[in-house]
Amino acid sequence: MAHVVFLPGDGIGPEVAGEAAKVLAAVAERYNLDISTENALIGGAAFDATGFPLPDETLALCKKADAVFLGAVGGPAWDAVPRPKRPEAGLLALRKGLGVFANLRPIAIFPELAAFSCLRQDIVTQGVDLLIVRELTGDIYFGEPRGEGVRGGLRYAYDTMVYDEEEIRRIARMAFAAARSRRKKVCSVDKANVLSASRLWRTVVEEEHAAWPDIELSHMYVDNAAMQLVARPASFDVILTGNLFGDILSDQAAAIAGSLGMLSSASLGATAPGLYEPAHGSAPDIAGQDKANPLASILSIALMLRMSLNAPQAADAVESAVKSLIREGFRTADLVAENNRNTVPTGCKETGDLIVARLK
Ligand code: NAD
Repeated sequence: MAHVVFLPGDGIGPEVAGEAAKVLAAVAERYNLDISTENALIGGAAFDATGFPLPDETLALCKKADAVFLGAVGGPAWDAVPRPKRPEAGLLALRKGLGVFANLRPIAIFPELAAFSCLRQDIVTQGVDLLIVRELTGDIYFGEPRGEGVRGGLRYAYDTMVYDEEEIRRIARMAFAAARSRRKKVCSVDKANVLSASRLWRTVVEEEHAAWPDIELSHMYVDNAAMQLVARPASFDVILTGNLFGDILSDQAAAIAGSLGMLSSASLGATAPGLYEPAHGSAPDIAGQDKANPLASILSIALMLRMSLNAPQAADAVESAVKSLIREGFRTADLVAENNRNTVPTGCKETGDLIVARLK
């Protein structure tokens, strides 16, 4: 029996998590998967109930689970809360507590939604289907020393970009393994022409590559990668990169894909559980109105089935159901173009129901 903890969170989090849970239950029934689930508190909802954005009880439940689903956290209601108790602090503590060091974000454009991409249509129609594998717990965001001061009458501040070889090796392994079930190409992105940390990155990625002879490895400087990502996105399969470069490139890639409502993600560590979440936030502007697009969450369930629950067939079924829904023309409000206001958008709940119907 596999156990999944759902953390609905704030804003549209509970709405999209509800549909994700419904889809997981439906696909489990269809494929005879023995999966139990329970809900726990995180974010602003947890702060309101317990005074903490990640109560100890929630972290303990998540650590014992096989996989964790997170809706979204945050919102204006908690703007005045001190930083360590903000909803977002709960999410950072969860990632740290679970030891998830790899963030996997698939970026694909559904042909029917190509108009929502910020790229020219002739570029989009070449087909975009890539996976960003971003290191999540190291790099300049966590490096020491860091600080600020005054020197010669001038204020200054500094951060440290640092990686050790094991941090690089384990994320490289994750990228090569992911590439094996895709088109078998990894492009490692760094700034080795300038940065020492990047030179070690490149060396260790090459050393690790020796164990993956069936995978094609290339290297690209991050400035060139940013350009190629918009000029020739179809040329990428797996992009492997550090925390800082991955942060920037994954948001750039999100704009290429179009709506935030379609982007799933998985964060993985050395051992279970993986953390699965949509790439978007709590969208306070549409919360409680049944307008949220639950497909990013439903696609995150597909990732969970494949990566943590060892149910690839069920994962394929969920992804096919999403594709057919889009092909059939069902659209939540975020996917209805400004110039097409005659279309009645599908609600969040109805979208979940339509996916469930296609899984039966
Ligand atoms: P956001 O992603 O919540 O919203 C950005 C825009 O996209 C909004 O117009 C929103 O309506 C729309 N949108 C987002 N998800 C959608 C969906 N599923 N369906 C339809 N439309 C969708 O980003 P924001 O407005 O910058 O942040 C709002 C709150 O969310 C903040 O408190 C922020 O800290 C938090 N946040 C949380 C996470 C997380 O939990 N992982 C990530 C980002 C932001």
